[in-house]
Order: sequence, then C-alpha cells, then structure tokens
Amino acid sequence: MTTDSSATAARVLISGGGIAGNAVALQLSRAGIRPTVVERAPAPRPGGQAVDLRGPSRTVAERMGLMPGIQRQRLDERGMVHVDSTGREIVRMPADLFGGNGAVADIEITRGDLNQVLLDVIADATGAPGNPGVEYRYGERIRDLHEHRDGVRVDFASGATAEFDLVIGADGLHSATRRLAFGPDEQFSTYLGAYTSYFTMPTPTGIEPHWMTMYSMPGGIVAGLRPDADPATAKAMVIVRTDPDPALRRNIAAQQELIRASLAGGGWQTAAILDAMDRAEDFYFDEIARITMPHWTTGRVALVGDAGYCGSPLSGQGTAMALVGAYVLAGEIARTPHDAAAALIRYTETLRPFVDTAQQLPPGGVKGMAPRTKAGIRVAHTFVRLATLRMVQPLMTRMLSETESYTLPEYLAAQPVPR
Ligand SMILES: Cc1cc2nc3c(=O)[nH]c(=O)nc-3n(C[C@H](O)[C@H](O)[C@H](O)COP(=O)(O)OP(=O)(O)OC[C@H]3O[C@@H](n4cnc5c(N)ncnc54)[C@H](O)[C@@H]3O)c2cc1C
Repeated sequence: MTTDSSATAARVLISGGGIAGNAVALQLSRAGIRPTVVERAPAPRPGGQAVDLRGPSRTVAERMGLMPGIQRQRLDERGMVHVDSTGREIVRMPADLFGGNGAVADIEITRGDLNQVLLDVIADATGAPGNPGVEYRYGERIRDLHEHRDGVRVDFASGATAEFDLVIGADGLHSATRRLAFGPDEQFSTYLGAYTSYFTMPTPTGIEPHWMTMYSMPGGIVAGLRPDADPATAKAMVIVRTDPDPALRRNIAAQQELIRASLAGGGWQTAAILDAMDRAEDFYFDEIARITMPHWTTGRVALVGDAGYCGSPLSGQGTAMALVGAYVLAGEIARTPHDAAAALIRYTETLRPFVDTAQQLPPGGVKGMAPRTKAGIRVAHTFVRLATLRMVQPLMTRMLSETESYTLPEYLAAQPVPR
C-alpha cells in the first residue's frame, strides 16, 4: 500500500482500548485531534496484575500527567520471595536491590488501575483549550480495511462503515489490525513455550503482605501471588509450560481445565488459587509469545504496543513499550499532522532502539523461569540467590537498566494541557 505524502492525520481510528490505545488517544487529543477508539470488549477491561514503570516509561507517565493518579493507586510491593510447597522461604529478592529495576520495580501499579488512570486523565483533559477529547465505541471492532489514495475505508463488525486518514492498531498480541494490514500472525508471532493466566482472588491466609510470592512446581508450572491495591485481594498468576494448543484460544473452559490439571494437589496456595479461579470475574489467559516485525507501519496503518512489539511478560516491559511507543507515535503525528507518512517513518526510526533493548528476554527464557525438574528448580533458585550477592549486584543493575540509556524525544504535545 502506498501513502499520499500529503496525507493528513485529522481522522484517526485506534483499534484497542488497552494501555497503548488509551495512551495514544490521550496524546492525540492533546494535539487537537479527536481519535475514535474501538474496543472489542463491552467496557474497559479490568484485570491484570502489577505492571511496572521504570526509566523512559516513568518519564513518559510524568509527561503525560499520569503520575498523580498512579501515585494514588501505586502498590506497596517490597520484592519477591520464592517459597516451597509448604510456604517456607527459599530465597528473597528485595525491590530496592538493583536500583529499583529488578523483577519488582520501584513503581508498580496493576494493569487495570493504570488503564483507569489513563481514562480518568482523558476525561479530565477533555474540554481543555484545544482538546476535543476521544470518542469511544465499546463492543466494536474492525472487520476489514480498504486503503485508497485519500484514506482508509473501515468496515466494522457492527455493519457500520467510516473513512479515516490513519488507522492505529493497539489491539494487542493477537492484533486484528496487524493481520488485516500486514499478514497472518505466524509471520510475526513466536510462541515461547508457555501459557500464563492472571486473576483477582481474596488474599489467602499465610501470605506475607507486600511481597510477590512465587512457587515453582516440577513440570514447568509456576504459581504466584502479588499484592493488590486493596489488601483484601491478591493477584494470582499461573504459568504452564506446554506445547501450543489452538483449541485453547478464546475457550475459557479449556484454559481453566489446563490450569486445574496443572495445579491439582500441588501444595502451597494452589488449592486456594484454584478455588478462586472458578469465581474470578477478571480471568485472563494468553500464550507467552513475542511479536517481532521489520516495520510497524504500512501505508496509513501503524501498530503500537503488543500489536507491533510484544516482548511477552518475560521481558517485563510490555507496558513500558506500550507507553513509550504511544508517546512517540502520537508525538510524531502531532509534529507533522499534515504529513502522516513522514510521521510514521519517524515513529519507527525513533522507537526502534528502545524496543530492541526492551524486548530482550531474561537468560533462559521460559525454561529458566519455569524449569521442568526438581533439579532445574534448585538451579533457578541458586541463580536468584547469586543475583542478590553484593558483588554481583552492580552487574545485575547494569543489565536491568539498559533501557534507561534511551533518549526520549520531547514533544510539545506531550505537555499535559492545564484546565
Ligand atoms: C485484561 C488484561 C490483563 C493483562 N494482564 C497482564 C499482566 O498481569 N501482566 C502482564 O505483564 N501483562 C498483562 N496484560 C498485557 C499487558 O497489558 C500488555 O502487554 C501491555 O500493557 C501492552 O498493552 P497493549 O495495549 O499493547 O495490549 P493489551 O493490553 O493486550 O490491550 C489490547 C486491547 O485491545 C482490545 N482488542 C483486542 N482485539 C481487538 C479488536 N479486534 N478490536 C478492538 N479491540 C481489540 C483488547 O480487548 C484490549 O483491551 C494484560 C492485558 C489485558 C488485556
């Protein structure tokens, strides 16, 4: 597809109302553009456990004016502790060990709360001088895209059709926008060998408050509990190493059956986790996968966040990439709103160094995180213990802080518009 070099960015469609989609929408609205966001869920999706803000993503959150809301919802998470089947501590990694850049970072907030902070800031900014706000259409999704010389005609699942100058795919790991504009998932998606699930549950007794607790079982299974903003609830996490199974896609009964079979009789808090799973209202399940693409734009379509460069939960940088990517994309569009083609080229060039670093996986990948054997679990715990040694800490801090060397561009539109 080719783009008319004089393409403007007045009518922008964003597919997906997650962190990436809402962050782009906020910044575009501040630049005087009123984007339309279509989100396939009937309402903003709750759920997800702690996501962290560090380095450039923290700066972006500050520049977007998100910090007051984040501070109100910020989790008091003090580090990570690995336990055995009886709950006995094996090794502990405090959050402040690696300059606040370890597995638990300095600033942690649940994904659902961060999304709500973005929506609140959008609502607050709407109506400020020059800010036309954001149009939301929940329960809607793109069915087809037809790019032509003057724009993109979009057919929606509801049967509606509309014209846009630019379409931004912020629709996550299984992005429909990516499939329609760039090609099938198999070209870009690599399954990393496991599935993961998150959901909210009542905080069980016997859990150390303020600490993320991890329990590894033979077979490549990991169960974890993380603090929530409300101490009465906790965020459960389960990782299961297994072959990819297409039958699991969008089949909650099959997903929960896999988790049930994996955790059954497993000790620690697995019984409480399974009990809560059946009643969880925000059950989330997906493959652990990575998206790598040579370019994130084609013609009048751009991808942002997991849709273009999902690093998988193993990278620990999914939300950071979504925020930084959204900030750069909206910033470049706002710089040359009458030359969208040039803006999209600058978006890729400017963001690439950050994504290349942020997408890196920890040594060992899924195998290191969820070993299959008892011996493998012991080795993994030994690595955690070694990483906490005083003499190793400077090296770890350097490794974990690599994205901090990224030079974040400054955009005028990035300033929160005062009311
Ligand atoms: C409910 C939920 C819970 C999560 N929990 C965690 C977690 O605990 N830990 C973690 O590391 N990561 C989690 N993630 C992933 C994490 O949010 C992302 O890696 C990161 O924030 C980047 O966000 P994103 O906006 O690019 O993608 P996503 O967060 O996946 O958001 C994509 C949005 O697009 C919507 N969407 C999908 N397809 C379409 C379509 N065809 N049309 C319109 N809308 C569509 C989705 O409903 C979703 O709201 C979670 C994601 C979700 C949706």
